[in-house]
Amino acid sequence: MLSFLVKYADDGRVTIPREIRSHLKLKGGTDLAMKVEDGNIVISKPEHRCFVCGSDKVIPFGEKYICEECKAELKKVFEDEHKDIQQ
Ligand SMILES: [Zn+2]
Repeated sequence: MLSFLVKYADDGRVTIPREIRSHLKLKGGTDLAMKVEDGNIVISKPEHRCFVCGSDKVIPFGEKYICEECKAELKKVFEDEHKDIQQ
């Protein structure tokens, strides 16, 4: 287990030690999830899952994530509805 003591700055910033960043292969700009659990701050790599079916093989879709299958299905539904409007 990697364990460090870090300083909490006046402006709210906390630096994740290089050893942890390297171990978890974190790059600048990576989204991290933060929550309070049992009085502790827990920071984790968020799991990106399809907002329709829950698959973990996803691509960004606006502010959410979607899998290729659901994206194709949504596109089909949208196109079908659009046809109804035109008729
Ligand atoms: Zn899906």
